[in-house]
Amino acid sequence: MSQPKLLIIDDDTILGLMMQNIARPLNIEARYTSDALQFFAVLEQWQPDVVVLDLVMPGMDGVQLIQELARRRCRARLIITSGVSPRVLEAAQRSAVENGLSIAGMLPKPFTPDDLLSLLVPLESEPADNALARHRSPLQGLKADRIDLGRALDRRELSVAYQPKICYRTGAVIGVEALARWVHPELGMVPPDHFIVLAEQHNLIHPLSRQIFEQALDWLAGLEPEYGGRLMLSINLSALLLSDAGLPDWLSQAVESRGLSTERVILELTETCATQDVGGSLEMLTRLRMRGFQLSIDDFGTGYSSLLQLTRMPFSELKIDKSFVMSAMASHESRVIIESIIDLGHNLKLEITAEGVEDDATLRYLCQAGCELLQGYYVSRPLPAEQAAQWLREYRPDRNHWPARAG
Ligand code: C2E
Ligand code: CA
Ligand code: CA
Repeated sequence: MSQPKLLIIDDDTILGLMMQNIARPLNIEARYTSDALQFFAVLEQWQPDVVVLDLVMPGMDGVQLIQELARRRCRARLIITSGVSPRVLEAAQRSAVENGLSIAGMLPKPFTPDDLLSLLVPLESEPADNALARHRSPLQGLKADRIDLGRALDRRELSVAYQPKICYRTGAVIGVEALARWVHPELGMVPPDHFIVLAEQHNLIHPLSRQIFEQALDWLAGLEPEYGGRLMLSINLSALLLSDAGLPDWLSQAVESRGLSTERVILELTETCATQDVGGSLEMLTRLRMRGFQLSIDDFGTGYSSLLQLTRMPFSELKIDKSFVMSAMASHESRVIIESIIDLGHNLKLEITAEGVEDDATLRYLCQAGCELLQGYYVSRPLPAEQAAQWLREYRPDRNHWPARAG
């Protein structure tokens, strides 16, 4: 097992060294600096697994450090520490998550060695494989450009991963979300957030969406003999597609030509795209609903929507954004937002799904708060086609697969 690596930046040298000393007996390699330039140099060369970052340092702004980490697509998990009020700490955490960083925990000052230990112990026991997997950062994949993407589409190199969605109350699998995947032959894994934007910018989003949609439908049709009509398929739609008047035709033709029904397909749209160009999208969304498709507002809570507009849109589901879900247990504010979203969803008679459920505590909290449809690493990561089919075959709600039901 390779030693996990911890990088600490804090202007308080005594505290920094204390943190270093707490980590070492856990077999965690720790380095400390109080200097931003040195911090980024070590970060690049040494590739730590976890970064402890002090939010307030003289002459340095922790929030800017967080932004810079995001810009560099830092894969290390973050522990944010500070003596500022919990609200400021929470705001910093939220902005980190929104910028794609992953959080290992918060450490309000003053903290005890035990507080830090409780965040570091999971790291110590983590298998080396996981620590290594994070090192294989998708930085390389970000070099993929529109020519690569065009070629990948011609060669049909994109694939689909499927992430199950579960109903907590009944334990049943409700369906799966299809997520596009692209492994570039030289550059490796290209993150979807990168290639979807590329496709949108270079007029490739139509062929891309078509390939993903067709693959996912073929996969679903292949499972029909086993699951006959029971699995729902969620699929992400770029807002750009909504201006294509032919969309309802090609989508329903693709579904029906495989002997499937459009009621089984949930089209996920982000909140922002569902509320811009209100007139045009209202018409398109209504046409899609009339064809039988379900409509879901993705990443709910992150966009800027007027409630009035939302209530007028023909949605059937609302997905609570993972930035709130992932911080729910650590953030009072996230819980307030989650609970208001659940309330709103219930009042509008929408299905409510939480995405980004990573642990048992969050899962229990969400169910108790009234959100029963769950998706996240705790249930399953997105899986390649074959593995996803296998997962579905082996899944038993009352066995160890579903630890929450044991208690
Ligand atoms: P999304 O629609 O919000 O999808 C959920 C993302 O959260 C996925 O990232 C999924 O892998 C990740 N996720 C799920 N559970 C957890 C969890 O417990 N913890 C954490 N940390 N993450 C979790 P992914 O696959 O990287 O996709 C990123 C985004 O790319 C998607 O966000 C979606 O907006 C876009 N995307 C993916 N496939 C397509 C596609 O076929 N078409 C379009 N238009 N967009 C797509
Ligand atoms: Ca989605
Ligand atoms: Ca989402």
